[in-house]
Amino acid sequence: MLKGKVAVVTGGTRGIGFAIVKKYLENGAKVVLFGSRKETVDKALAALKNEDPSWEADGAYPDLSDPKKVEEAIEAVKEKFGRIDILVNNAGISDSTKVDNYEPGQFEKVIGLNVNSIFYAIQPTVKIMKEQGGGCIINTSSMVSISGQPGGVAYPTSKFAVNGLTLSLARELGPSNIRVNAVAPGITRTDMVAALPKEMIEPMAAAIPLRRIGEPEDVANAFVFLASDMASYVTGEVLSVDGAMRA
Ligand code: NAD
Repeated sequence: MLKGKVAVVTGGTRGIGFAIVKKYLENGAKVVLFGSRKETVDKALAALKNEDPSWEADGAYPDLSDPKKVEEAIEAVKEKFGRIDILVNNAGISDSTKVDNYEPGQFEKVIGLNVNSIFYAIQPTVKIMKEQGGGCIINTSSMVSISGQPGGVAYPTSKFAVNGLTLSLARELGPSNIRVNAVAPGITRTDMVAALPKEMIEPMAAAIPLRRIGEPEDVANAFVFLASDMASYVTGEVLSVDGAMRA
């Protein structure tokens, strides 16, 4: 479904991002995964090489809080692969702190990675996509971007912003043949979920109509669809992949 396309996936070393990287490679794309550290990027690339040596995967670890470093990393992808067809903004951190307990700077840290970094990656990529005549951007939102969540207010706040950015850029960039969508996963089996308190997860899991939490692959399938030509008339959409869970 993605033969010949070049993709960048941030937060691609583990969890949902790593599942997206694998599905993109399986579907014929060339993928550059961004991670936070050299060791984790190298480990992810080694695992991919081990699984299928013919997959074309590369990696980088720009500081996503530094717009200049992100721009350089995006330009390096264009330099090496000639184009960028798909940008997946997936890196993110969650939060469950009660409002009284927030430390100074903690709110800003979550917003910084989950919102500002997305903008830093989008800006140089849009320039490249406009020059080549189009592309697509997919942002990882969350089910809490619809319902909010009781605690960790920075996290749902950041994901509401992701939806706003997605809808607005879809409208701005449609005339340039750039589609912009988001995927809103429900509770999904990754390290991020493992870090949340049990008493937050168990009641939610019991209330899921499909009676299971999502697997990273469930979510990655939506990213394949949205990046493919099958979704050629889909833009400005926030696609829920949550088993109809409604918090
Ligand atoms: P994860 O913790 O397993 O992976 C997060 C990824 O983000 C990692 O690859 C990590 O390297 C990267 N990252 C984190 N901090 C970074 C930083 N400072 N700089 C660069 N990269 C950084 O999490 P996940 O569950 O796979 O989450 C991926 C995305 O899915 C996030 O945006 C998250 O908000 C969203 N999400 C997850 C769930 C869930 O239940 N797991 C639900 C809804 C949305």
